[in-house]
Amino acid sequence: MKAQYTVDGVLVRPFEPISTQFLSSRFYDGRTIVDALETPELAEQWFAVMTQELSRPPVAHVDAGALDALRGLRDGVATVYEHALGNNRDQIADSLNALVGSVEIAPAIPKRKSQALIDFAGRGNPLESFMAEVALSCAFTVSAPQVAQLEKCEGPNCVLYYTRMRDSQHWCSNTCGNRARVARHARK
Ligand SMILES: [Zn+2]
Repeated sequence: MKAQYTVDGVLVRPFEPISTQFLSSRFYDGRTIVDALETPELAEQWFAVMTQELSRPPVAHVDAGALDALRGLRDGVATVYEHALGNNRDQIADSLNALVGSVEIAPAIPKRKSQALIDFAGRGNPLESFMAEVALSCAFTVSAPQVAQLEKCEGPNCVLYYTRMRDSQHWCSNTCGNRARVARHARK
């Protein structure tokens, strides 16, 4: 399985935590910033690809209100990650408390399902479950020991965070590494 690829204009990053995957719904595709939360239809497309590629629970319908909520959640995750890399403990705690407090979190395992999928909001609503899962994932990602591997990509125009697998890694992907080398070469 590749670490990073696109399907129907959606960036798929199977090995990243869901909070980082969700942040990656906004990414640089080599020409421009692509944003899956630009319209409800694009958001539905993003969830459809997540279901198809990563067997995630389907979120079939996104209306204007849901889109606003998703944007707010994504901004919240971005703020927490920024503070986590800035290493200011009070700011991390404040932003994370705000994020976690903004969603209903009550994990439950629904009965009579073939797979043990967790309903993170406990209310039978796939979108609410997704949002609760993202908030929890964000909390784990900025906690020890995971936070030591959390990095922001240094690739030209890249806006992605990634989990660092090797000490020498500076980029989310080979694509960004190549772009950085090309840019360096062009400057010489
Ligand atoms: Zn990158």
